[in-house]
Amino acid sequence: MSTQSSISVSQQEAFIPLSVPHIAGNEWVYVKECLDTGWVSSVGTFVTRFEKEVAAYHGVKHAVATVNGTAALHLALLGIGVGAPDAVIVPALTFVAPVNAVHYVGAEPIFIDAEPRHGQMDEEKLAAFIQQACDASGQQLVHRASGRIIKAIVPVNVLGHPVNMDPIRTLAERYNLKIIEDATESIGSLYKDRKAGTLGDVACLSFNGNKLLTTGGGGMLLTNDDELAAYVRYLSTQAKDDPLEYVHESVGYNYRLTNVLAAIGVAQFEQLDAYVAKKRQIATDYITAFQNLPGIEPITEAEWSTSNYWLFTVQIDESTFGMDSRALMRYLEQHNIQSRPLWRPITMLTPYQDTPRYAIEVAPKLYQKSLSIPCSVDLSTEQQTRVITTIREASLANRS
Ligand SMILES: *Cc1c(COP(=O)(O)O)cnc(C)c1O
Repeated sequence: MSTQSSISVSQQEAFIPLSVPHIAGNEWVYVKECLDTGWVSSVGTFVTRFEKEVAAYHGVKHAVATVNGTAALHLALLGIGVGAPDAVIVPALTFVAPVNAVHYVGAEPIFIDAEPRHGQMDEEKLAAFIQQACDASGQQLVHRASGRIIKAIVPVNVLGHPVNMDPIRTLAERYNLKIIEDATESIGSLYKDRKAGTLGDVACLSFNGNKLLTTGGGGMLLTNDDELAAYVRYLSTQAKDDPLEYVHESVGYNYRLTNVLAAIGVAQFEQLDAYVAKKRQIATDYITAFQNLPGIEPITEAEWSTSNYWLFTVQIDESTFGMDSRALMRYLEQHNIQSRPLWRPITMLTPYQDTPRYAIEVAPKLYQKSLSIPCSVDLSTEQQTRVITTIREASLANRS
C-alpha cells in the first residue's frame, strides 16, 4: 500500500507539457547518414527526398523546403507578386507569423474576424467586408478607405482545423485574389476529401518544434504552379543567375532547409499517419470526458473537416465553470500541468494597432476564453486522465 501511494504521488508531481516533439523513428539513422557522408548543408539528398515525399503525399507538383514556415510564407507572397502598396486579407485570430510576412513585403494586412465555433476566418464576414468596404474596379478589388488593391487572402487553418475554403475560393475567383493557405498547423488534416495544403494557389507548412512534425525548425511551400515554384526556389537560394560567376539579377534570400534537418523531416514524415491517429484519439477522449462538465466547450472539427487536432483547445465559460481560462491555467500550473491561452488577436498587437479591420468581435472573446491543454503525441492515458481529473476538480472546487 505504501508503494502504491508513493507511485501515485510521483505521478501527481510529474510535469505534463502542453505539446512536445516525438522523436522515435528513423531520425537518428538518417541524421547519422548525413554526418557520416558529410552532406550536411542545403545541397543533399534528404532535402530533395523530403520535398518529393511531401509533394507526393499532397498530390502537388512542387514542394520547396525552407528554413521555417515564416520564410515559406514570405516566399509565397513574393512569388505571387505581392508588395507595396497592395493589401492582403488575413485572419485576426492566428499566430502572428503570416501577418508579419505580409508586412515584410511592404503590403498592408486587413483583418477579418474569426467565426465562433471553430475559430477560423469567418467567410461570411469576409463576404460582407468585400460587399461593404471594397469596390470592384475592372479586374481588381480595391479597399475603399485606403485605396489599396487587395491582391491575396491568407486563410490560416487555426489549431489544425481547416478553414471553410470553398466559399473563400469562390470570392477569391470572383475578385481575382490569390489564396495563400497557411497550413503550418494542419498537416495531415482534410477539408472535405482534400488535404490541407492543397486548398489554395500556394500553401505553407511548418516543421517548428511545436508543430505536429518537426525538424527543429523548418518549413515548406507547396504549389502546382511551375513558374512560381521555380521562382521561389531561386529566391530561396540567394537568387543565383550564374552561380559560378556570382551573378544575381534579383535580391535573394538564404532560406533553404539544410540536409541534416531534412533528414529529421523525412523520418518524422514517415510517422505522420500514426501521429494524426494519436492526436485524434486524444481529442476524442477529451471531448467525451468534458461532455458532462458544464462551462467547458472543446473547439472541435467542423462538419467539413477531418482535423489533425494539432493543439487541443477548450473554451471556458467563467460563470458556469467556476473560474476563467487564466485562473484554470494557473490551477493547472500548480498541479504541474502546462496549458496555454490562444493568441492575442493580431489587431491588438502594437505593430498592427492602426491597420484596417472588419467587425472584429469574436476573436477577442475566443482569446479570452480559450486554453490549449496537453496533447503531445506520446501523452499517456494516465497523463490524460490526470489532466481531465484536475480540470474537473478545479471546476467543482470553485463552482457556486
Ligand atoms: C508556426 C506557424 C507559422 C510559422 O512557422 P515557423 O516555422 O515557426 O516559422 C506560421 N503560421 C502559423 C499559423 C503558425 O502556427
